[in-house]
Amino acid sequence: MHKIKVEDKEFEIFLENETLNKRIRLLGIQMNVDYDGKCPLFIGILNGSFLFMADLIKEINVPCEVAFMRVASYEGTSSSGKVKELIGLPDDIEGRDIIIVEDIVDTGLTLTHIIKTLQEKNPASLKVSSLLLKPSALKYDIKELEYVGFEIPNEFVVGYGLDYNGLGRNLKDIYRATEG
Ligand code: 5GP
Repeated sequence: MHKIKVEDKEFEIFLENETLNKRIRLLGIQMNVDYDGKCPLFIGILNGSFLFMADLIKEINVPCEVAFMRVASYEGTSSSGKVKELIGLPDDIEGRDIIIVEDIVDTGLTLTHIIKTLQEKNPASLKVSSLLLKPSALKYDIKELEYVGFEIPNEFVVGYGLDYNGLGRNLKDIYRATEG
């Protein structure tokens, strides 16, 4: 299916599941090399990262732990600019090698806030993996952003964990909003 409607909005196919998985496999290979001999703690940011985390973690062959936390900062198709409190922050971050797993980085505000909060807990290292990045929307310099799946234009996308007004997270491919 190449065109779909989610609620009132039309979307067209953008990144197919096979394309996503090929790239995620490569990210896993890179992480396995970088974290050889270590035991990283992957922290997924809910809700959007749950499918990316599920597929990424299956590619990891060093010992690792997985946790999730939540931050609500987005409504509809435009960033609210407000970052609310982090919920469910793991308490064993000190001295750990942390990999934050995000669905998408838009302005970078959410991630900047998460990184600042986690850095205060003194991890041994802190890196970020985001499936998607919109470079032209980025307003913050995020040096921890080490593992990016795809750089995409500044368009609204849905599917593979990403929602439009709560819907579309279950789509196995990623779609982008069509004009109008
Ligand atoms: P930022 O703080 O980087 O501006 O926004 C990051 C958050 O906004 C993401 O975690 C995601 O929840 C949401 N977001 C940004 N762009 C998109 C998009 O194109 N589609 C969807 N579904 N969410 C987005």
